[in-house]
Amino acid sequence: MDFLKELGLKDVNFGTCTDHNEWSTDESAGLIESHNPATGELLGKVVSASEADYENVISKAQAVFKEWRKVPGPQRGEAVRLVGEALRKHKDALGSLVAAEMGKIKSEGDGEVQEMIDMADFAVGQARMMYGNTMHSERPGHRMYDQWHPLGVVGIISAFNFPVAVWSWNAFVAAICGNVSVWKPSQKVPLCSIAVQNICNQALKDAGFPPIFLLFNDDSNELAKKFVDDKRVNLVSFTGSTQVGKQVGVQVAKRMGRSLLELGGNNALIVDKSADLKLAVPAIVFGAVGTAGQRCTTTRRLFVHEDIAEELTEKVVNAYKQVPIGNPLDTNTLMGPLIDENSVNMYLNAVEKAKAAGGEVLTGGNRVDGPGNFVEPCVIKAQADWDVVKTETFAPILYVMTFSDLDAVIEAQNDVAHGLSSAIFTNDLRQAEQFLSSAGSDCGIANVNIGTSGAEIGGAFGGEKETGGGREAGSDAWKAYMRRQTNTINYSTELPLAQGIKFDI
Ligand code: NAD
Repeated sequence: MDFLKELGLKDVNFGTCTDHNEWSTDESAGLIESHNPATGELLGKVVSASEADYENVISKAQAVFKEWRKVPGPQRGEAVRLVGEALRKHKDALGSLVAAEMGKIKSEGDGEVQEMIDMADFAVGQARMMYGNTMHSERPGHRMYDQWHPLGVVGIISAFNFPVAVWSWNAFVAAICGNVSVWKPSQKVPLCSIAVQNICNQALKDAGFPPIFLLFNDDSNELAKKFVDDKRVNLVSFTGSTQVGKQVGVQVAKRMGRSLLELGGNNALIVDKSADLKLAVPAIVFGAVGTAGQRCTTTRRLFVHEDIAEELTEKVVNAYKQVPIGNPLDTNTLMGPLIDENSVNMYLNAVEKAKAAGGEVLTGGNRVDGPGNFVEPCVIKAQADWDVVKTETFAPILYVMTFSDLDAVIEAQNDVAHGLSSAIFTNDLRQAEQFLSSAGSDCGIANVNIGTSGAEIGGAFGGEKETGGGREAGSDAWKAYMRRQTNTINYSTELPLAQGIKFDI
């Protein structure tokens, strides 16, 4: 595999980056193995971080921050611009690694790297637009404004399913805001983190910028827990399951730190009888089958108007039967494997639970024989209030339900723990606006005639309720990586007090 060589990966790789491209050689904490989920083949090994490595990374991050915070925003943007350029050069190789290590198809792997590049471009522009307000002071001869300062060390803990893009959402915005970031990636995809670090840190080093991106890989999650509890980490940006995210939120709150939580989703798509099915069918199939159902925004629940339920369900099931499943690096493949054996078992268990509740499997529901963690994409006729339907199973299972009344279906859509992404397909303006109104979808993302997954980076990404409430990427998400300061300057020769208070001494 030539791409491994291009990305500087070896059979055994050091996993803790302490400075530009300097890596700790301490092997005392053992090795993390990375396997290709499509074949089971060993792709490489990564040395896990020791306690001493962790201390070195955090103290280095603190030291680098003292310098980086003084660099003007537009110059920080220039550093991120160069990093984006370096990613452009290695897009094909890095996209292939994402496909080989995570299992998503090559075009989605390339798309993930494109997302990093887009994020770099966005951050470069944002570096000149970290605006504060100017307010009119109530006192004569006074000026009042607010400004935004960096936080310090930003800790990034990421999930396996977006092994490169989620880091860039955080790290590039954190960087232009004047922070230094420390990354703890998922141990299921450790090679991606090393490849990203190699590319980005070389670009920083070549241009003479300080090492603002640091990394440690942790096999057991013991250091990850320490990281969450560490007062020196000013913001913990956590992307992962709701189960772990809840613990992270509590731990960070206990030390009065800041957290940004991007957790699970149980996303629904509503298809009204007026909908254009030419748009709806591919959106449903991409949303539910893409990345083998392992996106936080994957379509998991489908509500179809009863008048078109039979027609639409038939079209969806037919499309499912034509989905080519196989090696993600093969350009004809549309669905790759699940990440590991545990995920296959979660898929099989959910199918069994749905059947036991009375669900009718319309297609799929089985493991695919042979090597790798492949399953068939599955559609199940179900009821919205079943426990299994209300649970996020990180696999390609789509539950189909029918509806007749829009108010009732919006209520059913919202009646789950998560609040990440949602969509309606309709050509009825009133229905679309109702869905987007304050009495409509309760999710962080609500779309009309676009599916639930495949968000653009320009918008703020994230969701409500047990999705955690965080927002990343575009819009004004940068504010989460900064602290706000209100400044009042008196240029008069008097000292008037606010609210007209007299205090003469
Ligand atoms: P996970 O929660 O198992 O792991 C996420 C990360 O947390 C990993 O790096 C893991 O090593 C680390 N971790 C585990 N235990 C920890 C602890 N006690 N303290 C600190 N860190 C710990 O999630 P996963 O299986 O990698 O990812 C799938 C989940 O992530 C799904 O629920 C999916 O919806 C969610 N996700 C959400 C978004 C989003 O933006 N909302 C994006 C991608 C994935």
